[in-house]
Amino acid sequence: MAAASSGDPGGSVKRRLPEFMDPTNQFGELTFLQMTGKDGAQLPINPYIIGKSVEACAGGEIEDARTEANGTKYTLHVRNPTQVAKLLKLTKLIDGTEVEVVPHPKLNISRCILSSSELIRMEEKDILAEMSSEKVIRVQRITKNEGGKKVNTPALILTFCTTTYPETMKVGLRRLPTRPYFPNPMLCYGCFSYGHTRIRCPGPQRCVNCSNNFHGDECSEASLCWNCKGDHRPTSRQCPVYKKEVDVIKIKVRENISFPEARKRAELQTGGSYAQVAAQQNALEKKLLDLEAAMVKKDQEIARLQEESKRKDEKNEQMMSFINQVKQQNVHQHQHRSNEQSASQEKPRHREQKIATIATTGSITRSRNNSPAIQETKRGRLPKSDSNKPVTSPNTSPPPKTKKATTGTFDLTEMDYSEEEPEVSETTSKQRFR
Ligand SMILES: [Zn+2]
Ligand SMILES: [Zn+2]
Ligand SMILES: [Zn+2]
Repeated sequence: MAAASSGDPGGSVKRRLPEFMDPTNQFGELTFLQMTGKDGAQLPINPYIIGKSVEACAGGEIEDARTEANGTKYTLHVRNPTQVAKLLKLTKLIDGTEVEVVPHPKLNISRCILSSSELIRMEEKDILAEMSSEKVIRVQRITKNEGGKKVNTPALILTFCTTTYPETMKVGLRRLPTRPYFPNPMLCYGCFSYGHTRIRCPGPQRCVNCSNNFHGDECSEASLCWNCKGDHRPTSRQCPVYKKEVDVIKIKVRENISFPEARKRAELQTGGSYAQVAAQQNALEKKLLDLEAAMVKKDQEIARLQEESKRKDEKNEQMMSFINQVKQQNVHQHQHRSNEQSASQEKPRHREQKIATIATTGSITRSRNNSPAIQETKRGRLPKSDSNKPVTSPNTSPPPKTKKATTGTFDLTEMDYSEEEPEVSETTSKQRFR
């Protein structure tokens, strides 16, 4: 995208367009000019004098302007090449202040990435020689480390002497697309602050792990980040301050503005300063820890309740077994009484005969329980031989109370209730309970 001469930014409508690119090339390439007082002279404090002087020279409004270095310098944003040419000749303001206008030494450049496997073995200087006609002023190869060796990647960083760069570049016979270049945040490996390198570090030198004053290469302290006070190393890419720096660089590159300006915009976007962002992050982490602690507590409470419930179940079981025992005792007492009654009516010969029968079968046979329901019941619960045993006892007992047996869940207490022989029924009933 070469500089265009179309458009008139000096028109009456004030535009607020992003400065980084002019996709349709409608308003021309942005040029940054720097205006300073000649030989270090102060610029007027009255902005109207500066405004009227610049607009009179340019023949209309310019795109925008910013102050630099506490108002001692002005950066003029101009898209119209005619205006650029005129302003570069400006030497005196309307109040007589002598000034100098030059192309901005830092801002009139742009950088992009070009990936080409065809150029991977070519020297940077040879590529630059081929690309200089496209306003490329620097070519840097991106390398990677492979087993301690520097290896070329297909990616090249191209620097242009213009504020925009072309969307495609011709490499031999091919046209390849370009993409934006976002440099890594500048982290000082002396004090672990962002924005300067170790060479220009004002100090103090800090530990790479705990952020305390440097105390040697070994550190057994917990990791602490100097920038956000989080529990990671100051070099961590998870650090919110690092992420914020990445955002600042993206804004700077996309809008081609200075670092302080990009920083201001990034803070406006997130609605807070670095310190605030870091504090928010720490508060969130604390909340998370609190929640985890609360969950552990809840788990413990659940385990305690489960234990309590288990104990209660055991207690209930004990209680039930006690109730059953009492029930059994009651039944036996009842049997005892009824058997005593019937025994007194029975002939001694019958009794002897019955005892003999029970002793041989190991169970009980009842002469009175000949109804089909009772037979079935007995087959279900008693040994098989029992149902085939001959009836040996006359029907002298009270009427049977075994109707429930047909349901399949007959009540043993009722069966036993009608036993005739106390001494025998005692043992059999016990066996049947087990
Ligand atoms: Zn430093
Ligand atoms: Zn340390
Ligand atoms: Zn951090």
